[in-house]
Amino acid sequence: MRIHFFSAILATLALFPTLLFAVNEDLAPESATGTLVQKTVSARHQLVVTAHPLATQAGYKVLQQGGSAADAAVAVQAMLTLVEPQSSGIGGGAFMLYWDNSTQQLTAFDGRETAPAAADENLFMTAEGTPMDWWDAMVGGRSVGTPGVLAMLELSQKKYGKQPWDSLFNDAIATSESGFTVTPRLHQLLAANINPGLGRYPQAKDYFFTPEGEPLPVGYQLTNPALADSLRQIATQGATALYQGELGVKIVEAVKQASDNPGKLQLSDLQNYRAVARQAICRPFRQYRVCGFPPPTSGGVTTLQILRMMEFAEQQPLPADSVDFYHLFSQASRLAYADRARYLADSDFIQVPVDELLDDAYLHQRSQLISPLKDMGKANPGELPSKISRADDRSPELPSTSHFVIIDRWGNAVSMTSSIEMAFGSTLMAGGFLLNNQLTDFSFVAEQDGKPVANRVQPGKRPRSSMSPMMVFDENNQLVAALGSPGGSRIISYVAKNLYLKLSSDISLQQAFNTPHMVNRNGVTELEVGTAAEQFAEPLKALGHETKIRDLNSGLHGFFRQRDGSWASAVDPRREGSALGD
Ligand code: GLU
Repeated sequence: MRIHFFSAILATLALFPTLLFAVNEDLAPESATGTLVQKTVSARHQLVVTAHPLATQAGYKVLQQGGSAADAAVAVQAMLTLVEPQSSGIGGGAFMLYWDNSTQQLTAFDGRETAPAAADENLFMTAEGTPMDWWDAMVGGRSVGTPGVLAMLELSQKKYGKQPWDSLFNDAIATSESGFTVTPRLHQLLAANINPGLGRYPQAKDYFFTPEGEPLPVGYQLTNPALADSLRQIATQGATALYQGELGVKIVEAVKQASDNPGKLQLSDLQNYRAVARQAICRPFRQYRVCGFPPPTSGGVTTLQILRMMEFAEQQPLPADSVDFYHLFSQASRLAYADRARYLADSDFIQVPVDELLDDAYLHQRSQLISPLKDMGKANPGELPSKISRADDRSPELPSTSHFVIIDRWGNAVSMTSSIEMAFGSTLMAGGFLLNNQLTDFSFVAEQDGKPVANRVQPGKRPRSSMSPMMVFDENNQLVAALGSPGGSRIISYVAKNLYLKLSSDISLQQAFNTPHMVNRNGVTELEVGTAAEQFAEPLKALGHETKIRDLNSGLHGFFRQRDGSWASAVDPRREGSALGD
């Protein structure tokens, strides 16, 4: 049953005029589109959980036809490009954890966008030497990074796929031609003018609005023949169609032709793009081994830091509905986000002390800064043995993005977060899909007080992310869970909270996803509006917290192994996702 909270929608709409002028990380534009009551799907053999029922179906069909999780991921992403265009697509980037059950190997496939070779640390600076206004930077060609998701999918599918590549696009091509139904969420994001750039360039304007300039209504049957054509080229030629072929030319043209804000992307950037297979980072939490994605995302390190510090600081595992949980989670988050701002960025370009940040002795000592009786206030980053001297990063990340999980009949699994950054990305379209604005995840400012910012723009570098695809293993190295979420830099909080709650108690993963959110990114303690979290505002204030009640719009998708060995789905009630399995 779908329940829409119209009052919340109206409240959000009322906020927009101000939001358009004053952007900061407070903005969570994909909020207030209602909640769904989700029923758990219990699956013995295979399971797909994504943000849209058609993407779930496309992935599930591939599994039923004998495909692996790596095959299904291609079908899911192709369909999401069409049906959830605001959040992810082949014009963007992604991080995928892949568990190959037969070899017990976990791989972190990195399809993050890169900065063009012609970009430098002044990319987002004005002629006067000040950082650009965020919206000015974001809309148009300037913020478009070299898309990475397709190269990454091809890399993982070549290694772990069982079906022919060209068979994986059938559903997405057919649906691009026959059309899909505009969902309440897509309509509401358009109606809310979530991304003011959407009216600026003709392709997106014509695609998402009626000739009268109205946002496409709920239920509208939207076709995308240009995307069908692009996907057909990709199906027959492989990712080459985008990186070396006609599609690449279209992307570069779109970026250059945004004459009010042209970008630096060239064909050579596409030709030189490489997805990377990295080593996942795993650390203990209770009896489990929790694994996340290494830099260039901050998601894995920061999530693992929060969990471990909570484990060191708690007297006993804390339940979701206790002020002690809210307080402890906020304090561990403060410490972890402080380290994130100082140390985390693309480790191919700058030394990132991952081992030092995840060292047990270090985290134990950091956890001792937590008082059960008082908010610590702004946390400082920790002193590390390597004595790296850096300035903090203050780049905002605004939420769009999509997370999906897949497990196949052989026990192989995907946990993948995919993004074009802001809802509707740069708002430029090429070949029927939106181009990302991921370069705005870089720090606009390159140095401060003579110290470099780790996440400054450099040619070929990947912007720091918060995306946190996670997997959990038991003592026998058997997969127990996979999950992740969108939500900009709040992704880490959503993922860490749900991992803590699920791995500390008997509640189901779905029940964990249903619990109210609380976020502290080393500032104000945010409590999810309209939920039981609100009741903790006063007790937290008494501990010295500054609190704020607001939308906290995650899109968590995951699964968890049940005692009988079957897989239980979990779908965030805050979005329109679905699960299918058997
Ligand atoms: N651009 C963000 C990142 O890479 C994700 C944005 C979102 O989740 O909405 O971490």
